[in-house]
Amino acid sequence: MPAAPSSVSIGVSFEQVEKRYGAFVALRKISLSIAPGECVALVGPNGSGKTTLLKMAALLVRPTSGRVVFPGAGTDAKAIRRQIGMVGHNILVYDELTAQENLELFARLYELEPPRQRAAEALEGMGLSTRADYLVRTFSRGMRQRLALARALLASPALLLLDEPAAGLDQQGLIWLTTSLRALRAQGRTILMSTHARNEVTDIFTRAVAIAGGRVDRDSGAGGDPRPLLEELKVGA
Ligand code: ADP
Repeated sequence: MPAAPSSVSIGVSFEQVEKRYGAFVALRKISLSIAPGECVALVGPNGSGKTTLLKMAALLVRPTSGRVVFPGAGTDAKAIRRQIGMVGHNILVYDELTAQENLELFARLYELEPPRQRAAEALEGMGLSTRADYLVRTFSRGMRQRLALARALLASPALLLLDEPAAGLDQQGLIWLTTSLRALRAQGRTILMSTHARNEVTDIFTRAVAIAGGRVDRDSGAGGDPRPLLEELKVGA
């Protein structure tokens, strides 16, 4: 597992956040506050706004109105970005480079020192050391997901945003994901993750938030029990 995050611990708060695409309203005045150290499942049907919300938390999408703040992280966007790791639908890795080369490239981009070592450590943390020198185009879906998570963890972010990381993983991949998330949570990181709530990953969450039609439909709340909500909304499995 990569090094624990620095002493910085950050949460994320959406304050009356709205997102419009032309006349279409993707998010409708969402207010949601996630404290440092929470591990939150974002559930809801396709098109309900989960990805938009995650991208907003990653500062990749700007709210049309309202704002996103990061308690504990100040207001400097560059410093905040450094504390955020995101794994989205598009896995941003280069097929014609090896796993090691990919991560070294990102380590240089993030100005992490020494890049070679940081890349090797991140690969080791995700169980990819033996594949470090393989071209990424030879990787299975599960290995790509591992690499994507390794990339997101390179800079040891305190806030992790994961958009359906379980999608396309087989049983072994799901076990790996659950184990990794449990370890990341134990390190005190804040995790916000969209999921289809399959059995294998539900027991790591401290909270579940259901999104429907761009609104927060249900919220088990900080300190509440997320299991009844996850159980009720369970799909797939
Ligand atoms: P989810 O992740 O829950 O499937 P999304 O956040 O991806 O939902 O999408 C919410 C809604 O916003 C969808 O109806 C989607 O088509 C729309 N949407 C997302 N991004 C854009 C965009 N760039 N332009 C127009 N509509 C968008």
